[in-house]
Amino acid sequence: MPAKYIFVTGGVVSSLGKGLAAASIGCLLESRGLKVNLMKFDPYLNVDPGTMSPFQHGEVFVTDDGAETDLDLGHYERFTHAKLSRDNNWTTGRLYEQIIAKERRGDYLGKTVQVIPHVTNEIKAAMKKVAQDVDVAIVEIGGTVGDIESLPFMEAIRQMRQELGRDDTLFVHVTLVPFIAAAQELKTKPTQHSVKELLSIGIQPDILLCRTDRFLAKELKSKIALFCNVQEEAVITAKDVASVYEVPLVFANEGVDTLVLKYLRMEAQDRDLSKWEDIVHRVYNPKDTVTIGIVGKYVEYEDSYKSLKEALVHGALAHNLKLQLNWIEAEGLETGNQSNSNDAQLEDYDGILVPGGFGKRGIEGMLIAIRYARENKVPYFGICLGMQTACVEFARNVVGLAEANSSEFDQATPHRVIYKLRELRGVEELGGTMRLGAWTCKIEPNTLAHKIYGKLEVSERHRHRYEFNREYEEPMVAAGLRISGSTPDGTYVEMVELPDHPYFIGCQFHPEFKSKPLEPHPLFSTFIAAAYEHGSKRRAEKDVAAVEMFHRPEKVSRR
Ligand code: GLN
Repeated sequence: MPAKYIFVTGGVVSSLGKGLAAASIGCLLESRGLKVNLMKFDPYLNVDPGTMSPFQHGEVFVTDDGAETDLDLGHYERFTHAKLSRDNNWTTGRLYEQIIAKERRGDYLGKTVQVIPHVTNEIKAAMKKVAQDVDVAIVEIGGTVGDIESLPFMEAIRQMRQELGRDDTLFVHVTLVPFIAAAQELKTKPTQHSVKELLSIGIQPDILLCRTDRFLAKELKSKIALFCNVQEEAVITAKDVASVYEVPLVFANEGVDTLVLKYLRMEAQDRDLSKWEDIVHRVYNPKDTVTIGIVGKYVEYEDSYKSLKEALVHGALAHNLKLQLNWIEAEGLETGNQSNSNDAQLEDYDGILVPGGFGKRGIEGMLIAIRYARENKVPYFGICLGMQTACVEFARNVVGLAEANSSEFDQATPHRVIYKLRELRGVEELGGTMRLGAWTCKIEPNTLAHKIYGKLEVSERHRHRYEFNREYEEPMVAAGLRISGSTPDGTYVEMVELPDHPYFIGCQFHPEFKSKPLEPHPLFSTFIAAAYEHGSKRRAEKDVAAVEMFHRPEKVSRR
C-alpha cells in the first residue's frame, strides 16, 4: 500500500517544538506497529547547516551517510526507528542547487524554469522518495506560516492533498495559545490568525496542536474549533512538559494517534508505550543526582550541543539518576589563570566532558580541565575536539613536549600531535575535507573501550578535519596512553584512553548522535556510572573528613 502523509507546519512563533511534535507523532504511530519515516524541509538558502554557526542554528546533526542536517533529525532518530539520510533533510538552497544543475545540463528542454511547477515538483519528489516502504511519512516544514521562504513548500503540500486526497494526507498545525497574565486568560486570536494565513494559501489544517502552559478547557477548544474550521476533538492541548520524552505520552492522552488513524482511515494495533512510560517514570523518580561539567566553547547556547545533552540524559536515566549539567565556558578557565581558582571551579564535578568544537578559542581552558581530570582521577570523556585536546594535554604534560598542539590552533607548532591528514595527502583546503558520517572502528581487546562496547567492531559518526598524528604514537604510548580504537586499515586513530585512570576516554567520533532514550549509548551510560561512583566516593570522604573535624578535641574546646 502506498504511504500516507502527515504534514506538520508551525504558526505564530518559531520554537514551538514542531520537530518534537513530528517526532512524537512518529513515536506514537510506531507504538501501534506502523512503519514511519520523517523528513524536514528548511526554507533557508544555505545548502546545508554545515557552514552555519552553532549560535545561529544550533547543533549540526550528522547522519550515517555523512549528511550535515538540522537538529530536528536528532529528535526523529531519538523518538523513532526511522533510518535517516541526506534524503530526509532538504533546504531551499539544496533544492535550487539541484534544479540549477539540471537547467545547466539542459534537462528542462528549453522550458522556462519556474517555482511552480519545477520547484514544487522537486519538493514533492523528495517527499515521495522518503515515503517508499513505509506506512506513514511525516513531513515537517521549517519556519512559520507566513514566511516568504516557506511558500513553495506550503504550495507543494497543498498539491499533495490535491493529488492524493483526504484519506492519504493530513495537515497538522502547531500553534500557540498564550496565557495573558494581565487578562488572566488564554488567548486564541494568534491561532485564528495563523490558520487564516494557512487557509489563504489553500491549506485547511485537520489537527491543531496548541502549545500552552495549561489545559485548554472545553469551551476554549470549541471556540478554536469554530473559528478555525476543525473538529473539536482535533484541538489538542500540547501542554509544556519538563521532559521532552513525556511529549508522546501527553499526545497519547489527548488521543492524537487515534485521531490520526481515524482521519487517515488506517487500522493499527493497540498502542504500547510501556517503555516510554518507564523512561518518564525514571525522569521523575531519580534515586540520586550526578553532576557533569561540560567545558566547551558554545556553552551559552545549549542547542549547540543538543544531542550531547540528550545522550547524557539517556546515560543518567539508565542508572536512575538525575543529570545536573554545568556548562563551563572554556575561556573562563583560561582567564582564571590561578590554578587554584580553576581547581575550585572544577572540583565539584563528578565527571568532566570536553565536547566537539572548531577553532582556537577556549583551547587552553579545555587543557586545564583535562589536566585536572587526569591528575585528580576524575572521570573524563573527550568527544572529537575533546579527544584531540586530551592528546595535546598528554603530549605536553606527560610526554614533555611543551609546545605540542593541533595544527588547527598553531600551524607552526614543532609537535603537531593532531594534524590534517587529508591536507598532507594533497586534498584541497576548502570543502570536502571533512571526515563525515559512519566509519567502522576496530577496538583493541582488553581495553576500556572493549569493556564499554562489549564488542570489537563498532560504527560511529564523524564530523571533523583533524586527526591524531601516528608519528607521535610511540612516545605517547610509551608514556602511558593507550590507542584503543582505529579504522580497520589503521590509518585513523578513533579512540584513546589512559589505563592507569579509572575512566579517561577520548573518541574521534560523535557517539551522541546514536544515543536514544530507549537505547542509551554505552559510552554515555558508562561515563555516567563512573562519574557517579567517583562523586559518591568523594562525598563519602568529605563526610568522613567533616566528622573527623567535628570530633577533634581542640576544635570543640575552642568553641
Ligand atoms: N576542530 C576539530 C576538527 O576539525 C574537531 C571537530 C569536532 O570536534 N567536531 O578536527
